Amino acid sequence: MPTHNPYTFSPIGIVHSCYKEKFGIPRQPGVVTAATARLELIAPYNRLDTLDGLEDISHIWIQFVFHATLSEKWKAKIRPPKLGGKKKLGVFATRSTHRPNPIGLSAVKIGKIHHENNRVFIDLYGADLLDGTPVLDIKPYLPYSDNIKEATEGQVPTPNKIVLKPVRFSEQALRKGKDFQQQTKQNALLLIEQVIGQDPRPSYLSDQTDRVHGIQLWDLNIKWCAREDHFEVIEIEDRR
Ligand code: SAM
Repeated sequence: MPTHNPYTFSPIGIVHSCYKEKFGIPRQPGVVTAATARLELIAPYNRLDTLDGLEDISHIWIQFVFHATLSEKWKAKIRPPKLGGKKKLGVFATRSTHRPNPIGLSAVKIGKIHHENNRVFIDLYGADLLDGTPVLDIKPYLPYSDNIKEATEGQVPTPNKIVLKPVRFSEQALRKGKDFQQQTKQNALLLIEQVIGQDPRPSYLSDQTDRVHGIQLWDLNIKWCAREDHFEVIEIEDRR
């Protein structure tokens, strides 16, 4: 019989992210460095004094809820996508989103802290978080103990071994992307290059060329496909 403990936690914040859907989000933070997001503190934590000292800190741990997959059941063994979907590992040996307690953990680079009217935001860089992600807690990343030199990496390949494929833009896509960049100050073209370049397709589609995929980043709907030796961004629609 599982034991049910009476712990309840409510979010201290919510993430506003460039990732508007799960497809395309990297498997870990720091992979897509051009990804930008903001963590907004929720009342009664929307006070600058809760963040005193954070201005000297470069990275934080974010504990969050996998809120978009709450209705999906967990399994004891899962197939990590980076192992090509062929091999199964135990859920606790992976960072799968489908867990008995659907809580995620990401170490994320932080930037400026903003206070606008009654709202408090922290800029986040390279996060792997979906827009609307509820945040349970944040803690400073402590290099002296969190950066473990002798740690072994396991079977899932590390990002520096994942080769990003080149991404080319159609004329239309390049023009729309540049316009969006100019108007929003978001580095959209680099973001698109990094998100698509890491090949977000499920492994069963990774051999297929010319099939059109869609990804939404910020307000941009991006149509793209794999060619023989590169990815092509075919069309960008700006939905603002
Ligand atoms: N770094 C975290 C960890 O280790 O716990 C997350 C790892 S998990 C493999 C990363 C994936 O979580 C992303 O590719 C994205 O699809 C998914 N994801 C991110 N935010 C989510 C959310 N709020 N709800 C459900 N899935 C989410």
